[in-house]
Amino acid sequence: PYHGMSKQDLLEIRKQNCNPMTMKVTYYKKPVFINQGYMQWLWDVDGKRYLDLFAGVATVSVGHCNPKVREAAEKQLGRLWHTTSIYVYPQLQEYAEKLTSLLPDPLKVVYFTNSGSEANDLALLMARLHTGNFDVITLRGSYHGGSPQATGLTSNSHYKYPIPSSLGCHNTMCPDVFRGLWGGSHCRDSPVQTIRECSCSSGHCQANDMYLNELKEVFDTTVPNQIAAFFGEPIQGVGGAVQYPKNYLKDTYQLVREKGGICIADEVQTGFGRTGSHFWGFEGHNVIPDMVTMAKGIANGFPMGAVVTTAEIAKSFAKGVHFNTFGGNPLACAIASSVLDTIKEDRLQENCDQVGTYLLTELAKLRDKYDIIGDVRGKGLQIGVEMVQDKVSRVPLPSDAINEIFEDVKDMGVLIGKGGLYGQTFRIKPPMCINKDDADFFLAIFNQAVLNYMERR
Ligand code: PMP
Repeated sequence: PYHGMSKQDLLEIRKQNCNPMTMKVTYYKKPVFINQGYMQWLWDVDGKRYLDLFAGVATVSVGHCNPKVREAAEKQLGRLWHTTSIYVYPQLQEYAEKLTSLLPDPLKVVYFTNSGSEANDLALLMARLHTGNFDVITLRGSYHGGSPQATGLTSNSHYKYPIPSSLGCHNTMCPDVFRGLWGGSHCRDSPVQTIRECSCSSGHCQANDMYLNELKEVFDTTVPNQIAAFFGEPIQGVGGAVQYPKNYLKDTYQLVREKGGICIADEVQTGFGRTGSHFWGFEGHNVIPDMVTMAKGIANGFPMGAVVTTAEIAKSFAKGVHFNTFGGNPLACAIASSVLDTIKEDRLQENCDQVGTYLLTELAKLRDKYDIIGDVRGKGLQIGVEMVQDKVSRVPLPSDAINEIFEDVKDMGVLIGKGGLYGQTFRIKPPMCINKDDADFFLAIFNQAVLNYMERR
């Protein structure tokens, strides 16, 4: 008995009463019934332990029920849970100061929200008000949220409905160096960097030029006037850890700014040290955005989001009153503050770099061994493993095959995610506290699941 309910009861209620399509009820053929979590581990109702390499979609940054964060939360729960930010309480200021000190000048003004979608909605509104322009451009395959506005920014049909989601949102071709039209032939398959180094003999990336030409064509054909903003994830998350050629974001930022727009980095998945070498994903691209949106790992699973921008943009936004009942509440701020302390004290960014690089390097060996592992990529603990029918055609491995391997990995005790436009990419984005033994445990299981799949064929 689990809260007095059987597994069957739970699934029935899920189907009848709660968002019936939640990941097709619910993600696995034999769903996982979670009971408890501690750091990188989850236990199901039968006491079976799972290594959690999906972290509630890259959200549980410093570990399930992390004792330091839990202590901070409990302390704040006994003092004050909620009051709106129209009053002054120290937790908000303390956190705002800590957070903005981690961002480069001139990114020093923060607005708190409760989710990533809300943060991107707010960023869109601010960009439009600041520039006086309306149109926005995002990359195909991107995910920026599920609210009506953010759905317009998102470019993945799985998350779209047959009604207009948001006016003025346009997409340009995603400069995917593996699956993109010009990617694979020009960019070397080295798996451990934010951007792919180019191997073009001239030292000038031809693929990058082609993708930039695409963006220019969007300006010439679709965005007739000036642009409000460009939104981009430093490494696509839901899209399947998609990486861009060197200089793509840098050149794009320049072009967008020439057209009167501002540049927004969606750090909802890549922020807070996950990429290892940098605290923010954009730093790996050598750019400074005009606005950064964040959520997920910000508060280790407690609902929170934020937009950080410049004083100049904040000034344009100050013409109206912006209010958010829960945004920046004392409990969220106390939790987020202890998350930052924990990342620093436990050297979790460094851990992402070390364990992530190890995982990527070892996964690349499996890629070299098996024809169905097409690509291994990512940075730190933001990793994608793209599955193909064979390396030459790069046709995505069909979903029934993906699901077989996925289910097998779960049955052997590891939770990972799926992503990419065709669900063909396994996503690995664990709590930032995993260690080398955890990586080895996963590598052995993943290897076995691939072998099992091939044996069954
Ligand atoms: N941006 C990115 C990059 C995301 O991955 C997500 C969530 N998957 C969002 C925005 C939306 O965040 P939320 O679900 O908190 O609204």
